[in-house]
Amino acid sequence: MSTLRQAVILCGGLGTRLHPYTLDLPKPMIATNGRPFLAYIVDQLAEQGIEKIILLTGYRGDQIEKYFGDGKTFGVAITYSQGPVEWETAKRIWEARASFESQFLLMYSDNYIPISLAKLKAHHDASGKPLTVSLCKKDKGNIRVGASGVIEAYDSSRTLPGLDNVEVGYMVAERDRMLAAIKDPEKSFSNVLKALAASGELAGFTLQDRYQSIGDAERWKKAESYLASKRLLLLDRDGTLNVKAQKARYITAWSEFEWLPGVREALKKLAAAGFEFALITNQAGIARGMINQDDLDEIHARMSAALAADGVKIRSIYVCPHHWDEKCACRKPAPGMLLQASKDLNLRLDRTIYVGDDPRDCETADAATCMSAFVGPADELAQLKTPPALVGASLSAIVPEIIKTFEAWETRDANGANV
Ligand SMILES: [Mg+2]
Ligand SMILES: [Zn+2]
Repeated sequence: MSTLRQAVILCGGLGTRLHPYTLDLPKPMIATNGRPFLAYIVDQLAEQGIEKIILLTGYRGDQIEKYFGDGKTFGVAITYSQGPVEWETAKRIWEARASFESQFLLMYSDNYIPISLAKLKAHHDASGKPLTVSLCKKDKGNIRVGASGVIEAYDSSRTLPGLDNVEVGYMVAERDRMLAAIKDPEKSFSNVLKALAASGELAGFTLQDRYQSIGDAERWKKAESYLASKRLLLLDRDGTLNVKAQKARYITAWSEFEWLPGVREALKKLAAAGFEFALITNQAGIARGMINQDDLDEIHARMSAALAADGVKIRSIYVCPHHWDEKCACRKPAPGMLLQASKDLNLRLDRTIYVGDDPRDCETADAATCMSAFVGPADELAQLKTPPALVGASLSAIVPEIIKTFEAWETRDANGANV
């Protein structure tokens, strides 16, 4: 199978920790920007090629079924496996097993993280394990990962030493081998994870982004603002906004900063359409002693002021000052600066575009699960594994497509609100 086609989502939770908001509501239905939290997950899966979803429902499953129906408005086929409230998670999975494809995505319904399902599947297939879980770094988590990348321990009581990851769902399961690991369907599925980890049969797929959760009311509110539509565009600087310095040289003073033709008009148009911006730029000239931080700050202050006079707002500017030999996490094509922008601006990277003029900008976007737009000579793109979604000769050339892309996302994110 080249792509994952089926997802199975555990939706039976009571959501006790979300009371009083979920007193008469199954947890995944909790209103998030006017629509169920689960709707964001269903959209995410549908957008990445999942065609069939089985919702394993329990508490007030009727409400979930009434809302999602056959899934048509979400572009997927949704079916239901309804069980009593008291069923454990392993039981819900076990009872629906006849409907599973030989390989499928297994999900919880209370976490969201931008993720490439294609990369997850490739990692899983290479591992040869019956089950792969997606992981985020976390102190006092429930997972310890060994040097080989295979999970060494799963501990839901979080007491073992070295538990520095947490599993966030987004699992890929080999149906038969995973079902064989369910020794007692009357217990929680966490026992299956624990047993697989103990026998070295649980693979981990590590994500660098942070995950959103509706685990409690405070986190739900944070997730809601994270998932809200935002017109925020990420931009490279040199070669995208201004004329690049010669190879191995840097723009060292405002007097050397020259806007590319049409860029200020393009930014004005985008600002008029409600966009704000963040800049992402490698400036190894700092590490190399060819420009100092004060001069760079001065350039950026003047640039921001010039744009502000046009009504263009730069929310923040991310600079990697390091030398390429330093192997830092922020120098593009590493995704560090995009991840930082996401954190600072509560920005969903899978709902924004990173615009740049270098194939490495496209790689950066891909590594951050962000849409990529390339502005420059298209022949440079042949080397890329993942081609950019948008390509144009300049920023101004792709303004209409940028706006259209965000409009389509906003329509999608409003689908089923206030139902
Ligand atoms: Mg550039
Ligand atoms: Zn860096």
